[in-house]
Amino acid sequence: MTKQATRYIFEKIKDALLHSGYEVVLSAKMVVAKGEYVRFREAKGYIAPDELRIYINKNIGINDRVITLVHELLHELYPSWRELRVENQSKQIFKHLTVSQLGFLQFFVMTKSEIDAALKRHQAHSPLC
Ligand SMILES: [Zn+2]
Repeated sequence: MTKQATRYIFEKIKDALLHSGYEVVLSAKMVVAKGEYVRFREAKGYIAPDELRIYINKNIGINDRVITLVHELLHELYPSWRELRVENQSKQIFKHLTVSQLGFLQFFVMTKSEIDAALKRHQAHSPLC
C-alpha cells in the first residue's frame, strides 16, 4: 500500500469517526449481538451498525485497540472487503500512520485514566511545565 493510499483511507476513517455518529465503546464485558453472545475476552472488537457503536476490548494494548478500531471502520467503509483483506489493510494502515494520526486514533480507544496518566507523564518530561 502506498503512502498516498494510506493517507486517503486515513482521511475516510477520520471522517467516519467524527461524522458518522459511531460511538467507540471500550468494554471488557460481553454484549448481545444479533441474538448471540460475543465474548470480548476472545474478540478484539465488534461493530454494531444498528447501535451505531464500535466495541473495543479494553484488555488488549492501546496499539492493538487502534488496529482493531481501524479494522472495524474498514468493515463499515468497505463492506465488500473480505475479512482477510480488512485484516491486512488495517495492519498496513497502522504501520504507515504518522505520529499525529496515531495520536488521533489512540484518543478514541484510551480510557480516561490512561489519558490522564499519559498527560501527567508528558508534563513530567516537558521542560516548559
Ligand atoms: Zn473483521
